[in-house]
Amino acid sequence: MLILVVNTGSSSLKYQLINMEDGSVSAKGLCERIGIGGHIKHTASDGRVYEADRTMTNHEQAMEAVIELLTGKEYGVISDPDEIDAIAHRVVQGAEVFPKPVILDEEKIQRIYDLGEIAPLHNYAAAQGMWACRKCFGDKPMVAVFDTSFHQTMPPKAYMYALPYEYYEKYQVRKYGAHGTSHRFVSDRVAVLENKDKKDLKIITCHLGNGCSITAIKDGKCIDTSMGFTPLDGFMMGTRSGTLDPSALTYIAEKENLSPADINNICNKKSGMLGISGVSNDNRDIGAAAAAGNERAQLATDMQRYQILKFVGQYIAAMNGVDAIAFTGGIGENDPELREYVCENLTFLGVKIDKDLNKLRGREVKISTDESGVDVFVIPTNEELAIARDTKEIVSKL
Ligand code: ADP
Repeated sequence: MLILVVNTGSSSLKYQLINMEDGSVSAKGLCERIGIGGHIKHTASDGRVYEADRTMTNHEQAMEAVIELLTGKEYGVISDPDEIDAIAHRVVQGAEVFPKPVILDEEKIQRIYDLGEIAPLHNYAAAQGMWACRKCFGDKPMVAVFDTSFHQTMPPKAYMYALPYEYYEKYQVRKYGAHGTSHRFVSDRVAVLENKDKKDLKIITCHLGNGCSITAIKDGKCIDTSMGFTPLDGFMMGTRSGTLDPSALTYIAEKENLSPADINNICNKKSGMLGISGVSNDNRDIGAAAAAGNERAQLATDMQRYQILKFVGQYIAAMNGVDAIAFTGGIGENDPELREYVCENLTFLGVKIDKDLNKLRGREVKISTDESGVDVFVIPTNEELAIARDTKEIVSKL
C-alpha cells in the first residue's frame, strides 16, 4: 500500500510518499512560497533531486506539480497517480469535534476549515490542501489525522482554564495541546524499547523543535500536556513566549497602544529564544553566540532549560513518578547539554546518564545507565509514518 502524507501550511505543502510494506519513503518534498511565487524541492528515495522555482498560485497548482514529479520520467517513483492508495492529511486542530482520525468527506473538510477560527495559522490551510487533493485525486480515500487527538484523554482538571465557565461553553476555550502524533509515536517507541505494555508505564515525552511541548502519559494515555488552547502555551520556544502572566500582556498593550492582533503577533513571532537573545530563533545560532560571550544568548539558553525542567518536574508530580523520559525534535535529538542539564537536576530520582551515549545525535538511543532510577531515551520522531499508519488502519477497513 502506498500512502501520500500531505502537510499543508498557508504558503507551503510538504509531502511524503510512504510504502506501507516497510514504512520506507519512496519520495518526499516541499512546495514553498505558494501564492507568492513558488519553489519546489523533490527528492526520490534513490537520491534523485529536483529543485526549482515554479509559479504556484494556489495549493491545487502545488499538488499538480507534486503529481507531475511523482509520476514523471526523470524524478518519478510511480507511473500513475492511481498507484497511490490513500492520502493522509495532517491537521493541527481537531478540538473536541475530532477525537480520532477520520475519513474525509465534504462536510468534515468544511468542519476542519471552520475550526480555523481557533487555529487560523493551520486549519484553513489544511482544508485548502484537502480541497486541492480532491480536485487532483477525485474520490480517492482521504484521511485526516489530528495533532490534538492524542491529548483528548486529558481529564477536565487538566484541560480547563480557570476563567468564567461560560467561555468554555460559548467558545470551547480550553487546553487542546499539540504535537500529539509525535508524542504518541515516541511513547509507543518507549514501550517497545522498554519491552512493556504502555499501560504499565509512566512516560514523559519532550518534543523540542521550533515549537516545543512536553506530555505526561500514564496508563497509555495523555493526562496532561504543555501546549494549550493554541501552540503558544507551555514554555519558551524559537519565537513563542510560552506561558506568562496575562497581566503582563494587558499592561504592555496599554503602554504601547497595541491591539489583540499585535499582542498575538509579538507572543508568537517575536518572543521566546529570539525575543530574549535578540540573536536568532535557532538554538544553533544562540548556542554559538552564548559560547562567544553573548549574555542574552546565555540567558535565553538558561531560561529554556530551566522551563523545560520545571515542566518535567510538574508531570512527575502529576503522575506520582516516572518510568521513562524521552527527548525528540530538532533540539531534543541534537542538544546533549540540554538533556544533561535536565537529567542532572533529577538525581533525586536516581537519574544517571552515560555521558558518552548522551553525546550521540539524532539516533534512537537509551542514554541512561542500567543503574538509573528512570530510563532516559533519545527517540527521533516520525510524524509522517505515524499519520500513514493511522490512515492505513482506517482505509484497510473500508
Ligand atoms: P520544527 O518544529 O520546525 O519541525 P525542528 O524539530 O527541526 O523544528 O527543530 C528546530 C530546532 O532544532 C532549531 O532550534 C535548531 O537549532 C535545532 N537543531 C536542529 N539540528 C540541530 C543540531 N544538529 N544541533 C543543535 N540543534 C539543532
